[in-house]
Amino acid sequence: MPLQLFDSKTRTQSDFVALVPGHVGIYVCGPTVQSAPHIGHLRSALVYDQLRRWLAYSGNRVTFVRNVTDIDDKVLANVKGTQEEWWALAYRVELEFTAAYNAIGVLPPTYEPRATASIPEMHEIIARLISRGHAYAADDDSGDVYFDARSWADYGELTHQSLDDMAPATDSDLRGKRDERDFALWKGHKAGEPDSAAWDSPWGRGRPGWHIECSAMSTKYLGPQFDIHGGGLDLRFPHHENELAQSRAAGDGFATYWLHNGLVSVNGQKMSKSLGNSVFASELLASARPLVLRYYLGAAHYRSTLEFHDGALAEAEAALGRIEGFLDRAERRLEGTRFASEAIADVPEEFRVAMDDDLGVPQALGVLHESVRAGNAALDSEDLGGAADLLGAVLAMTSVLGINPLSSEWSTTRSGATDVAMAKLIEKLLEDRQTAREGRDFVTADRVRDELKAAGITIEDGPTGSHWSLDG
Ligand SMILES: [Zn+2]
Repeated sequence: MPLQLFDSKTRTQSDFVALVPGHVGIYVCGPTVQSAPHIGHLRSALVYDQLRRWLAYSGNRVTFVRNVTDIDDKVLANVKGTQEEWWALAYRVELEFTAAYNAIGVLPPTYEPRATASIPEMHEIIARLISRGHAYAADDDSGDVYFDARSWADYGELTHQSLDDMAPATDSDLRGKRDERDFALWKGHKAGEPDSAAWDSPWGRGRPGWHIECSAMSTKYLGPQFDIHGGGLDLRFPHHENELAQSRAAGDGFATYWLHNGLVSVNGQKMSKSLGNSVFASELLASARPLVLRYYLGAAHYRSTLEFHDGALAEAEAALGRIEGFLDRAERRLEGTRFASEAIADVPEEFRVAMDDDLGVPQALGVLHESVRAGNAALDSEDLGGAADLLGAVLAMTSVLGINPLSSEWSTTRSGATDVAMAKLIEKLLEDRQTAREGRDFVTADRVRDELKAAGITIEDGPTGSHWSLDG
């Protein structure tokens, strides 16, 4: 069965068919770099990273574009009354986002355009809209250009709203608007705004509206029609509705599929600035290993609300610990046997079916944990061939999900590197002990064992050699 995705525009799940077979173009709305990243940003980035990895694993070449909105009302508002330039704030925050994405193993986009680097492309779309009768420059001297909502019969098609039911656009003052639902494509420069935040245009100096930025950046890198447009559920209206309307009214086919990820609730409450319950990326990274955080953020289905509660990260740590425990045990038991192998197998069929069903990660994790249980049972019964097969499957599944604890992306983290260094030292001590025993030097052998014991490391002597484990 091919991959099926739930398209939030048609509200149906159907086979995913790429415009160009074997090559998938994805555009995901990136952050407005106005303030530090929070859990919602990480979750959104992560679910599209899962989609991208699954598409690639399934044999596709993926062009993945995630933008940086570096000029926006909110960026300007957040430097008001400070000494910081708006562009300095935007870049400082962009670096925080990049660091947080990197920490949880989100692959860098193929292209990561900043809005300020695509202003000519925005002008080109606006000019097309004006010439086609779907946009107008305001009659006053504001320099504003608006999308003419009433001129586009399909306006509202993404969120299934009729124009009469639609909320007024609040993205700009009413100043030259013909209809309160018309939204700004270009915002004329206002007194009091920094000169550096204005660009020349055929309609006067100003800056882009938010929505036109994404229409320009997506089609610049992916073409007038592309496969998948993603973003958080909170972006469906007005942002995505407006992107779709202006791009289609300008004559572009735009996205074939629309994907929207669910938001994050904190202890049962919607996360919001006004409630003061935002959970920031820095707090999360300070309280859990990055791999645990990735496991947690990616464990729920992408369309569901991710619940963050006290203890959520501990639960993820325990679940991941079961996987790590099996990998560790299996590798040590199989080492030196004819079943030892570095090879990663294919993912099990049930895992593939789950992922192809609108990226059913919870079901896929169920298959993963079942394989871990079966793998431990195989080791218990000395079925080394069976254990080796399950080890390969577990490595394949965790790799696809980006949570393979043995992958270099995690072992290069500080704790991973420490673990590797410690394991090497312990293995060396075990070798010394074995040499001592073979030479009947039991005093030395027992001293090594006692020293390791004092450091919290237990040694088990078995028919295949000595193995170690950390106490409790
Ligand atoms: Zn966007």
